[in-house]
Amino acid sequence: MTAMTSESKSSRAAWLQGPSAKCETVPEAENPWRLVLLGAPGVGKGTQADLLKHRLRACHLSTGDVFRVASRSECELSPAMKVALEYMRRGDLVPDSTVWDMVRERSGCLHCGGGFILDGFPRTIGQAESLRRLMVSEKLTLTAVVNYELPVGAIVARLSGRRTCEKCKSVFHLTEMPPKVEGKCDRCDGKLYQREDDRPESVKVRLDAYDRSTAPLIDFYQKLGLLMPVAAEGSPEEICDRTMTALAARRR
Ligand code: AMP
Repeated sequence: MTAMTSESKSSRAAWLQGPSAKCETVPEAENPWRLVLLGAPGVGKGTQADLLKHRLRACHLSTGDVFRVASRSECELSPAMKVALEYMRRGDLVPDSTVWDMVRERSGCLHCGGGFILDGFPRTIGQAESLRRLMVSEKLTLTAVVNYELPVGAIVARLSGRRTCEKCKSVFHLTEMPPKVEGKCDRCDGKLYQREDDRPESVKVRLDAYDRSTAPLIDFYQKLGLLMPVAAEGSPEEICDRTMTALAARRR
């Protein structure tokens, strides 16, 4: 199995850096998919979004990636962003108002010609309601909300074994997808590190935050007839195939 790489920064610059940045390439699709990915931290939403974006030609919109890019930025951060990064380091949810300001500012990305895959947003009922109002005002509709399901024990094992390359952001796993040389990236030889929020003390906080704030979204989207449960067991490719089958059935 090979490591998952994240997309080059420039192809989703407007999302990662803000609306003043221009995307180098803009995907086009005849009938764009506009998806939300739900699931506890560690179910593999980011990996699935990375695979799905190629299959669906849609843009991967991850709020966590925006925060991570900001945390590595050499520019002066706004006071709200500095506070947001403190929440993120603890594994806690960033306050709705900060997340919403960031998403609203990037609402142009919801019109992306290839459609979009929202990963890590919405995470609270408040965020889901804000998104729903924005979609209505932008005359857009969600196609489906994919809910990845996995038992808690498997989630903890996935998160605590995850290692990321400092340079190219490739993701490995100590047991499921080990690098050829311990601590080194197979692709660029960069150093592998453990994300601060993947440390055991943060993992517990993240899972509690998920149960409290994000799990109620399952009901929210079920009532809107948008929920599509998918088992997150097996290899990333198997899970992606399962997702594509379920999506195809939805459009039939
Ligand atoms: P993720 O990569 O989606 O797991 O996000 C990493 C961290 O960023 C989360 O643990 C939160 O601290 C923060 N974050 C990302 N998206 C959101 C959101 N929609 N609402 C609140 N906090 C978020």
